[in-house]
Amino acid sequence: MVKNNRIQILHSDWCKGCGLCIEVCPVDVLALQHEKIMIKNLEKCISCKNCEFICPDFVLRVVDK
Ligand code: SF4
Ligand code: SF4
Repeated sequence: MVKNNRIQILHSDWCKGCGLCIEVCPVDVLALQHEKIMIKNLEKCISCKNCEFICPDFVLRVVDK
């Protein structure tokens, strides 16, 4: 499968560490570090956008590579 898009953290300083995005990611891409979101497995991302849609603080976005 060709993957043209990937999740990016656009505004890590806006993250409040709620963990919602981690719960909805089906392939375990995201993690918290010091209560801020981080990407631990970028290559696993399937660009489903679950995390982008659920984040209440507009921290994450799936963008073109
Ligand atoms: S786009 Fe989907 S697969 Fe990628 S990090 Fe977000 S929830 Fe996980
Ligand atoms: S849903 Fe948004 S605010 Fe909550 S942990 Fe994820 S990136 Fe941070």
